[in-house]
Amino acid sequence: MKNLDQRNQIIEYSLKLNSTNLSPLRSGNISLRGRENDIEGYLITPSGKKYETLKPEDIVFMGLNEDEKKDSANKPSSEWRFHRDIYANKKEAHAIVHAHSPHATAVSSHGKPIPPFHYMIALAGGDDIKCAEYATFGTEELSKNVIKALENRSACLMSNHGQVAFGKNLEDAFELAQEVENICHQYTIALKLGNPKILSFEEMKKVLEKAKNYKKG
Ligand SMILES: [Zn+2]
Repeated sequence: MKNLDQRNQIIEYSLKLNSTNLSPLRSGNISLRGRENDIEGYLITPSGKKYETLKPEDIVFMGLNEDEKKDSANKPSSEWRFHRDIYANKKEAHAIVHAHSPHATAVSSHGKPIPPFHYMIALAGGDDIKCAEYATFGTEELSKNVIKALENRSACLMSNHGQVAFGKNLEDAFELAQEVENICHQYTIALKLGNPKILSFEEMKKVLEKAKNYKKG
């Protein structure tokens, strides 16, 4: 089977979505950039299958120019569109984790970016974590909103929905999704205590500079 290692990796991390409670049951989805028969594309979790039943052949390959899988028994996740558009728009994206993680989803329901109440916000690439405007799942409109919220960022919230993170590999993308969930957990606690103090633009500039050098090292 083509891309067997990548298919197995996607299954491994799909199971982790459940075991870490990042996205319980069959919510959320995972993809990896890949090639099949010289076509550039990505491998993605299928629609509607429970993660614990996934087999390598259930993982669906989609070309970057492909719109629908018409003749396949395996349908890609209904949210394939923003996966495709992230790969098409971000050369540095090699893996994507989308999760309905509890705290990120709760914060997303406010439809606002997360300000730098903690310097770890910088992990997503800037001085806030943006929130993509709401649109129905699986739509082109939602995908456009996600791409906008990911401008200069590698993770964002999706209003009334959840979060999405990408990275240079699955480990990286999964870890970032976990960090976003953790930041959202801390943020919900901070909000319960009143209005948290927000770090200044200058301070976040310093943090981002340090983070850049740290990544290089
Ligand atoms: Zn979703």
